Amino acid sequence: MTSTAQLYHKFLECTSVSTDTRKILPACLFVALKGPAFDGNQFAADALAKGARYAVVDDPAVAASDQRCLLVDDGLTALQDLARYHRRTLTIPVVAMTGSNGKTTTKELIAAVLSKRYKTYATLGNFNNHIGVPLTLLSIRGDGDDRYEMAVIEMGANHQQEIALLCSIAEPTHGMITNIGKAHLEGFGGVEGVRKGKGELFDWLAKSGGTVFVNAQDATIMAMKEERSFKEVVTYLTDGPTLLDETPVVVYRDAAGHEVKTHLPGRYNFDNMAAALAIGAYFGVTSEEANRAVADYNPTNNRSQVVHKGSNTILLDAYNANPSSMAAAIRQFMNLPAERKAVILGDMYELGPESEAEHAALGELVATGKFDLVILAGKDMKYALPALPKAYFFPDKFSLHNWIMDYPFENTHILIKGSRGMGLETVVPFI
Ligand code: ATP
Ligand code: MG
Repeated sequence: MTSTAQLYHKFLECTSVSTDTRKILPACLFVALKGPAFDGNQFAADALAKGARYAVVDDPAVAASDQRCLLVDDGLTALQDLARYHRRTLTIPVVAMTGSNGKTTTKELIAAVLSKRYKTYATLGNFNNHIGVPLTLLSIRGDGDDRYEMAVIEMGANHQQEIALLCSIAEPTHGMITNIGKAHLEGFGGVEGVRKGKGELFDWLAKSGGTVFVNAQDATIMAMKEERSFKEVVTYLTDGPTLLDETPVVVYRDAAGHEVKTHLPGRYNFDNMAAALAIGAYFGVTSEEANRAVADYNPTNNRSQVVHKGSNTILLDAYNANPSSMAAAIRQFMNLPAERKAVILGDMYELGPESEAEHAALGELVATGKFDLVILAGKDMKYALPALPKAYFFPDKFSLHNWIMDYPFENTHILIKGSRGMGLETVVPFI
């Protein structure tokens, strides 16, 4: 059996770590993981043939077949232990964030701000789970002038003890929770469960003597802070910055009185920016540098994209949806000054027994928006219908595609939002 320390020495001989044989880089360390429908052990030979230097496997028969295989008890645990071991060799601040909504956006904004002054490594894309976080940490490498000075780690979770595990691997020194909302209610067991599960980051920081950044205007996060005692608490949104405008994009005035125009819409993105500005200020980034980073940040990760098609403007937010992000997006769309507005909304997944009530509540919110056209797609959207007698309802996106082909949109602003599984971005070509 290969120990973590032995594995670490092999890791140092490798250029990178991969768990996917479609993404093998020369001289990488391949780690075989198991999923419900696959067993990575079966790809070890392929990974080695494609150029991996070693393959970490947990099947003794596979290990015996090639001396470049390193046998461990369990591939996933080995990956996590290796990441923890590597983390302990890093002496840099590790800023972790979790929360129901806005993690990736906030992470990108924090990284943009910190990068003005430090060589910063941030989670790539949405690599925020029990596999993504270890892989992220194992990417923080480089010597001499290439050494990273700061890490920003996104942590996602949909059940209890997940954030605790991620903290035990990443050992963050600083952290924040974006907000507590209605996401992943099913796995967490209701909003109280979400509060507890995300609170595991605060538990870690309280226990380890870390620093927390707290949004003073978020009563839930403030209460969560009060429940623990921290070595250091930094509150933000106590005075500046102030929000001047939120549509079509956020404009804010910073504490020194400078006006900053950004590329992101909505009050919720202002909160995300305020977090990044506070963390930047804490680490000594000047307000000029921080404002520039926030102003220049333009998302490329297909969240909240603006797409122009013919005379129509589409606000494509089909990356994910839950009751809080849905409500935030709809409220913002209500305030948008546009002649003609349509919403195309897809099911919010993972709500468990609360799905019916949440979709019904969504229907009531949408009804207050007085949109010119309301289109609902997905089987649970039928619960939104009672509040929206004029809405068009499609049980799946394919019947929606057919209908849209016959329905010409003109001069319309269209909000498209639904859970990832709905894949509502596929609607765009039909508009
Ligand atoms: P995931 O759980 O997929 O990792 P995330 O927490 O990383 O999501 P983002 O990808 O940053 O969140 O944003 C997803 C969507 O959530 C955005 O398009 C927007 O609609 C909404 N959103 C972003 N920030 C906030 C916020 N602070 N409060 C509420 N909703 C938000
Ligand atoms: Mg994310």
